[in-house]
Amino acid sequence: MSDHDDLDPLATAHLDTLAIRSGIKRTEEGEHSEPIFATSSYVFENAAEAAARFSGESPGNVYSRYTNPTVRAFEQRLAALEGAEACVAAASGMAAILSVCMALLKSGDHVICSRDVFGTTINLFGKVLTRFGVEVTFVPLLDDSAWRAAVRPNTAMLFLETPSNPLCEVADLAAMSALARESDSLLVVDNSFCTPSLQLPLEMGADIVVYAATKYLDGQGRCMGGAVLGSAIHMNEVLMFLRTCGPTMSPFNAWVFLKGLETLRLRMEAHSRSALELAQWLQQQRGVEKVYYCGLKDHPGFALATQQQKGYGGVLSFLVEGGRDQAWKFIDATKLVSHTANLGDAKTTIVHPATTTHSRLTPEQREEAGIAENLIRLAVGLENVVDLEADMQRGFARIR
Ligand SMILES: *Cc1c(COP(=O)(O)O)cnc(C)c1O
Repeated sequence: MSDHDDLDPLATAHLDTLAIRSGIKRTEEGEHSEPIFATSSYVFENAAEAAARFSGESPGNVYSRYTNPTVRAFEQRLAALEGAEACVAAASGMAAILSVCMALLKSGDHVICSRDVFGTTINLFGKVLTRFGVEVTFVPLLDDSAWRAAVRPNTAMLFLETPSNPLCEVADLAAMSALARESDSLLVVDNSFCTPSLQLPLEMGADIVVYAATKYLDGQGRCMGGAVLGSAIHMNEVLMFLRTCGPTMSPFNAWVFLKGLETLRLRMEAHSRSALELAQWLQQQRGVEKVYYCGLKDHPGFALATQQQKGYGGVLSFLVEGGRDQAWKFIDATKLVSHTANLGDAKTTIVHPATTTHSRLTPEQREEAGIAENLIRLAVGLENVVDLEADMQRGFARIR
């Protein structure tokens, strides 16, 4: 055997190989596909071992709220894809974000959060954490001076998503990381839209990445889950919160996500390709006022997205001519795509943001955020684009 053969083949492996091969610890049964460890607790060989496990001297499993082999396999695989020191899985995307906050913030801390993040994240910061003495300022994602002006001596965390939902605005992750350094705070990036297949925020200086695994990591709309990635020191704090407070990922869901990761790169490429094709097609249709997709050359985020992403993702939105009536008619005329607010699925979804995902904003806030009454969001799935175009034609036929 040459020296080369002694090396771990995963040490030099690429993302698509890591997505399939990392995190595997085969049992003595020799199973090829990862097993689901459906067990709440683990038995000890003897009393001394039990004592060592409980004291933390011995690293083995004790209880599945603490550790579970299937969940660990998912955590290790995602950490390998992200290039992160450590990963902690959580019961949902919101559980992941909550865990980061509970682990790394304390009463009296201040958070600056992008205004253009997932609606429930806004509520978590604005309605829940504020009850525990955490202060929060919301700022428009791309308003640099607003971010800077919001910094206070007690600012501990900057939180954002890029590209944003639904207008596909792209934040400069290197610049935001620099601001986090300057303000002695942590940059937390919700990377659910891009996944590690399209964007690696840690490489660009972010401290922590969070995921709704529910979306593209699963990819087929089956399970709720989340994940937090970052340094071992930070992840120990997050793990401490999770195992004490309980929003851990179930082994079955971990298994579904493990399988989802195996096809992640292929899926993200396909979502991105189809979304670009559909965005370009929509731009040419009569009845369309504007298309928002960061893969379009005339989108303000195009250059930055091209530089910091490996693809533009599956979410786009567009304005139809007219107002809410026309948008609703368009949506109601479609037959193939699913009318649901979810995304990150093989099935394409369509939704009217102003009256669903963004309905809790006041009309003034919606106006400021660019969520117009004639805006429609598509999360482009994996169907044939020609069939998606035919379905959009049903919408246009109704409003022209
Ligand atoms: C869905 C979503 C979440 C929340 O994830 P859940 O699994 O629904 O709790 C957080 N961030 C983004 C960007 C999402 O799309």
